[in-house]
Amino acid sequence: MTQTAPPPSAATTELPAFRHFIAGAWCESTSGQTFESRNPADRRDIVGRFQQGTAADVAMAIRAAETAGPMWRRTPAPKRGEILYAFGALMAQHKERLARAMAREMGKVLSEARGDVQEGIDIAFLMAGEGRRMQGQTVPSELPDKWAMSIRQPIGVAGIITPWNFPMAIPCWKMMPALVTGNTVVFKPSSDTPHCATLLVELMAEAGFPAGVVNLVTGSGGEVGDAIVDSPDIGVISFTGSSTTGRSIATKAGAKLKRLSLELGGKNGVVVLADADLDLATDGILWSAFGTTGQRCTACSRVIVEHDVVEPLLKRLETRAANLRLGPGLDESTDVGPLINAGAVDKVASYVDIGRSEGELVLGGGRARDGDLGHGNFFEPTIFAGVGAMDRIGQEEIFGPVLSVIPVADYGAAMLALNQTRYGLSSSIYTRDVNTAFRAMRDFETGIVYVNAGTTGAETHLPFGGWKETGNGHREAGNVALDTYTEWKSIYVDFSGRLQRAQIDNQ
Ligand code: NAP
Repeated sequence: MTQTAPPPSAATTELPAFRHFIAGAWCESTSGQTFESRNPADRRDIVGRFQQGTAADVAMAIRAAETAGPMWRRTPAPKRGEILYAFGALMAQHKERLARAMAREMGKVLSEARGDVQEGIDIAFLMAGEGRRMQGQTVPSELPDKWAMSIRQPIGVAGIITPWNFPMAIPCWKMMPALVTGNTVVFKPSSDTPHCATLLVELMAEAGFPAGVVNLVTGSGGEVGDAIVDSPDIGVISFTGSSTTGRSIATKAGAKLKRLSLELGGKNGVVVLADADLDLATDGILWSAFGTTGQRCTACSRVIVEHDVVEPLLKRLETRAANLRLGPGLDESTDVGPLINAGAVDKVASYVDIGRSEGELVLGGGRARDGDLGHGNFFEPTIFAGVGAMDRIGQEEIFGPVLSVIPVADYGAAMLALNQTRYGLSSSIYTRDVNTAFRAMRDFETGIVYVNAGTTGAETHLPFGGWKETGNGHREAGNVALDTYTEWKSIYVDFSGRLQRAQIDNQ
């Protein structure tokens, strides 16, 4: 990929301006407009200016991707895999720089930002290997002298639309399987994390993806995202984000009979039974509820607890959560970073108001404004006790550091409460009883189940995704991720030299 005009580096100008990446060149938007990305821990800190993309920019990116398509799909898959491997190696080499940029732009604490980059590396290496696997089937034919097999083929141009909460891992989860299977890509990142996306695409260019194979267009969901969804020339869309946006994309894509993978909201629960190791459960719940400030799709926002252990568990949670240190993600001593933007703070505050009438507020509940925190989007870790399973704070995705404790009588009631939600991403159970653990593995209606661990911690080589309204049945990660980006082709070769009729001549 040729870089005709690399974006200026943050170190060399006061307010760096970054560009789209289309057909192997860094270019400005036809709008002539830019938007700012700011540090959520300190809104005075502007990360940079980014191109306010237009439908015309998207059209150019799609043309570039279409032009590169035939060359890329004819490149042997193992060769494509080698470029993915080079990209993964570059990410590993630049891991610390990427993690720091992420902590600054998105706010997650450094250790988690490093984990986010690592997920990108892991999926790049996993999918690089798919370049040499990408298995189809070879099966016996029901007729003599006939060969029967199936192969995967790329769909064409993939539209990749991503959120801000895993600003490097999620684009990699999507682009790596799309690219190794021979698709070309138009990538629209969240407007809250365009710098993270630009850094990724810089490394993709350096890794050797040919011009036009990967195209980056920044800008709003309403304009850039909509143009991707609307285009008849995008064959597959992979979207991760809110259920509201996902539903609107599904409606439009459905009308065009377009392939669509949706990864949407969650309301993930941890069940704690009376026989559980409460210290272990406390560790897992705190990590799942307040890690990434509760802004993981797999974050725990409900703890469903057997009556007998509600008090001792609450005491542990309250004491430990009260000692979590709020601050910028770039500060190694920070436990909980900021929320992504002012709108997220307002949303969390509004749910805390709702919670006050539904449960008992036992910790937090306010915006954190002490000292320098006042320059950022900080919210106190918050715990409600005595919440009902069907209460709004027990049902709706808050996407912030708010935990609801729901008391129940026994495993049966816990299982019902856990499943009584329209979402189905992740769940967990703490118990020392192996039989109950297996019941939970069978009964919980979620795409991911943890036993004696919190609701987060997925690894890239198993399928990732949710049941019910968390998605539309597709999965990221694992080798099943290839399904989103490929068409199956079944091929029959008859070498008998005569007409052979399946289902007829062999009866
Ligand atoms: P969002 O507001 O839905 O935005 C996601 C992406 O869609 C952004 O790039 C956004 O662009 C774009 N977009 C907005 N409106 C659009 C439209 N009309 N057409 C096309 N694209 C459009 O979600 P978010 O706040 O970034 O992410 C948080 C949500 O993601 C949470 O609900 C969380 O649960 C979910 N999530 C789910 C998973 C999972 O695997 N299930 C993983 C991570 C996150 P702009 O930024 O420009 O608006």
